[in-house]
Amino acid sequence: MTQIVLASHNQKKLAELRRVLEPLVPGIEVVSYDGPEPVEDGLSFEANALIKARAAAKHTGLPAVADDSGISVDVLGGCPGIFSARWSGPERDDTKNLELLLWQLSDIAEPNRAARFVCAAALVMPDGEEVCELGNWAGDILTERAGTDGFGYDPIFRPAGESRSAAEMRPEEKDLVSHRNRAFTALAPAIAKRLISE
Ligand code: IMP
Repeated sequence: MTQIVLASHNQKKLAELRRVLEPLVPGIEVVSYDGPEPVEDGLSFEANALIKARAAAKHTGLPAVADDSGISVDVLGGCPGIFSARWSGPERDDTKNLELLLWQLSDIAEPNRAARFVCAAALVMPDGEEVCELGNWAGDILTERAGTDGFGYDPIFRPAGESRSAAEMRPEEKDLVSHRNRAFTALAPAIAKRLISE
């Protein structure tokens, strides 16, 4: 097995990334990271994913992957975007973030509530080589919360073509279609090319 480190202290993210990435790149093992976490002061999802992956590659000497994600609402010009986790303040409170977004859209009618989850997936090699890919999951913002699964904005996000919110989908169902899955599916060939010999 060839090891690749996931630049995150979040154990749920590690479990999700193992489910998504290990089948896409047979022969790799995604391992956890407990080193220093850098300041995420990039101005895009890609910049922040690369900042995290660079820090983990430097600290461990291993190839590193990282993601950065959020929700972009069309009528808000793409916000919350990179500010998704801190939309209601520095406490990073998922419930307050979701409630603020619902309130901000309270006068916006159904056809104009389009939004997408966005994820940047970055790979940084120990020699400094970098690759980054984006994944999108389109849908719209509901007028009230629905469902109890998932996290963050899942209860108010309805994927295109769905009648349910993302929080009403089973985790395995969400894994197959999510922005994170799409970003890491796009990144998988770059990982395989560099880490797995024929
Ligand atoms: P991070 O990339 O883990 O820092 O996530 C940034 C923020 O985006 C999170 O705090 C969530 O609010 C939001 N977010 C990212 N992905 C998802 C998702 O799959 N469902 C719900 N919220 C998400």
